[in-house]
Amino acid sequence: MTQDPAVSVHDTAIVEDGAELGPGTQVWHHAHVRRGARVGAGCILGKNVYVDATVRIGDRVKIENNVSIYKGVDIGDDVFVGPHVVFTNDRLPRATNRHWEVIPTTVRRGASLGANATVVCGIDIGEWAMVGAGSVVTRSVPDHQLVVGVPARPAGWVCSCGTVVSRAADRPASLDCGACAGQDAAEAEGGG
Ligand SMILES: [Zn+2]
Repeated sequence: MTQDPAVSVHDTAIVEDGAELGPGTQVWHHAHVRRGARVGAGCILGKNVYVDATVRIGDRVKIENNVSIYKGVDIGDDVFVGPHVVFTNDRLPRATNRHWEVIPTTVRRGASLGANATVVCGIDIGEWAMVGAGSVVTRSVPDHQLVVGVPARPAGWVCSCGTVVSRAADRPASLDCGACAGQDAAEAEGGG
């Protein structure tokens, strides 16, 4: 187990030898991080989170209670994974399959997955995309898109702060909400 002094692992959690946890990462009750998994800095792994062998998780990722991240799932920086989110890594699940191969899934920087969403393998969830609670995501989601429902359908576009900026099907010219656009302009002028 590679452990920076600033890492915090609850007594009931299991972090196997060969798992890496970045500085400042917190691992809560009954979580399990398998060998070969690499979790970045400043992450929170909630109660009962499972991180499979070889999984990669970026920095500042927040994973809520009872989420299992299986082999083949790759999570970028600043991603939010809501409670009870489910990932899969097998398109043709059979208990008896002799030709099983891992089908990869990527969740890109800043994306959010709402509580109890199911992410079917083989797709790519774009940067700052947002998946509504309870959705079943079966197709890739472009950057900043909001998807909801079963199966998940496009429902608009969101700012990096999460505010819906458009309900149109087409991507809007600006993906900043009014507040973030104002803030960006103020920062550009040096006003903070
Ligand atoms: Zn915003």
